[in-house]
Amino acid sequence: MQHAPSSRLPPPPPPSTVSTSDQPQPSTSTATAPETSVEATRTAYDVRRELMKNINPPVVTDIDTRHIFTVNDIGRLLDIAACRECYAPLTFDVQTDCLSSKLIVTCTDCENGTVFRNNEVRTNTGKKTRLQENNVQGIYEAVNNNIGLSGLNRVISTLGFNSISKGKFTRYANFLYEGMGIKYPAMMQEGIKGVFQHYENFGIFSDPTTGLLDITVSYNRTWMTRGHSSHKGVEFVVEVDTGFIVDREVISNFCQVCSNRDKKQLPITPEWKIKHEPFCNKNFTGISASMEAEAACRLWGRSTQLRLRYTTFVGDGDSNTYLAIQQLNPYDVPVQKDVAAATMVL
Ligand SMILES: [Zn+2]
Ligand SMILES: [Zn+2]
Repeated sequence: MQHAPSSRLPPPPPPSTVSTSDQPQPSTSTATAPETSVEATRTAYDVRRELMKNINPPVVTDIDTRHIFTVNDIGRLLDIAACRECYAPLTFDVQTDCLSSKLIVTCTDCENGTVFRNNEVRTNTGKKTRLQENNVQGIYEAVNNNIGLSGLNRVISTLGFNSISKGKFTRYANFLYEGMGIKYPAMMQEGIKGVFQHYENFGIFSDPTTGLLDITVSYNRTWMTRGHSSHKGVEFVVEVDTGFIVDREVISNFCQVCSNRDKKQLPITPEWKIKHEPFCNKNFTGISASMEAEAACRLWGRSTQLRLRYTTFVGDGDSNTYLAIQQLNPYDVPVQKDVAAATMVL
């Protein structure tokens, strides 16, 4: 949904041939600002849903063929079955892996037997993954519906299944994120195009010489843990009228692998460093409290690569962040802080 820009934008040009009901209307009151905040949250969630939509796992199409049976049910079934080769009774073994199961049926007399297992998913390029389809489906829903590992484990333990470990969840989620990463750049491009279009609708165009468009943004974040001691966070620049996330920065001053190596007092050789660097989670060496400002500087510093200038800052964060942007002074015009809008967003 695209709603009317706030009062920060000038009125749109007079209606042309398009019917006025199709034209976005600028709001004359400031009452739209709280809506902006809701919109931004909704859009962040929707962007992820959209990104996740067409990647693995595919939508379940054989929904009528999926059922849950207990081991006792299968036992009773096999009690009345016999081996096709020698007519001897059958025995079975079940191995479970969270939401996936493997059923091994063998003859009690001859070598005859068979294995039933949950499908293994493949990557977008068709490569085998050894990841079980049911688990991928479950973790996909957990990521997509914002319930995370703990939410998923609450659901599956209610159903009587073994819970999923953090490591396994991460492995499956990474598989999904890889698929998401392939779609992300194209989707962001589309969204940024939409922001340009939105401003154009109100008669605001990019600078003809530089090609840069000045926009009003808010700066939002989600941290792994609350407070300023979190080692990991994601910072977002959100265009306030469309609620579209124009850029984001994942920032972390901690890497588990580096930390483990340090704890075990293993040497950090140049060879090891080169090998580990692409996988290292640490991309900032300062203290946690300064990560928000650092991420802001990175985002403001590269905005022109997106043909944008974030010249109005609707700040709900601490003033250190705004101060850091001012010190960075990324453009030849100052970045203004829109305090009034920030108060309303809060
Ligand atoms: Zn047999
Ligand atoms: Zn590391």
